[in-house]
Amino acid sequence: MTYVLSAAKLQSYYRCPMAYYFRYERKVPGVAFFSSAALGTALHQALADIYQDWHYQDPIPRMDWLEYCWGQHISGLTATQIAEGRRILQLYYDTFIVSQSAIRKPLAVEGRIHGSLRVDDLEFTLSGRYDRLDWVDDGLELIDYKSGKEPESFLTDEVDLQIGLYYLALEQKYQRELKKLTLLYLRTGETVSFEVGPNHRRSVEDIIGELATQLRNDRQWTPFPGDQCDRCAYARYCPAARAEPEPLPDEAQPEAGLQLVLSI
Ligand code: SF4
Repeated sequence: MTYVLSAAKLQSYYRCPMAYYFRYERKVPGVAFFSSAALGTALHQALADIYQDWHYQDPIPRMDWLEYCWGQHISGLTATQIAEGRRILQLYYDTFIVSQSAIRKPLAVEGRIHGSLRVDDLEFTLSGRYDRLDWVDDGLELIDYKSGKEPESFLTDEVDLQIGLYYLALEQKYQRELKKLTLLYLRTGETVSFEVGPNHRRSVEDIIGELATQLRNDRQWTPFPGDQCDRCAYARYCPAARAEPEPLPDEAQPEAGLQLVLSI
């Protein structure tokens, strides 16, 4: 039996084991993201085409290539979103393409990776998605496009878990080490890069080991109250947030037996 893990799951567990339990073990409905997801999806798809379908016979494409790729993904968008997407891609072109002497074909775009890890006789499947995977001189670089309006706040510890999970999975697939993760903010043209090392692998193995103990033995799912409680969709059910927490809704799944799979 295998337990599937993603970076999002791992980060959720790290933030609060009890929230993880509500969301992933009992599948309590409650988290919903309302954003301009359609524009973000279209931008991701257009960027994938820009790199995947470019012929690479010329050193860099012209802006009309980006316009063409954008035009393939705009059905269903409003006129405002189409104009906004075009503005974002123009910024991308000015910042990341025209300034280069040549662009290199990525190893992969819009892909999925899977890896596995065995801890205490439990088999974990590590799964994740990525936007772009580039070769660098001595390994791999992951590019993660960010299209949200608000700059996404992140905790370095949580990014480290994401990195560690990808490190393990990519190493298994490509026999190369992940050297860098770059978050690329499409609306501003800014980037934030993280150097990757074996310490990332160790930290993700440690937290998966702790999760394995929970799954196999403890099943304590200790609440970890903090600032995140203000945004927690499960606060009403949580004994750390309410003196009299509500019972879980009928849709909640019964307490699971051991069922193992983690994804990135
Ligand atoms: S309210 Fe706070 S302590 Fe309770 S589950 Fe949510 S994040 Fe965890």
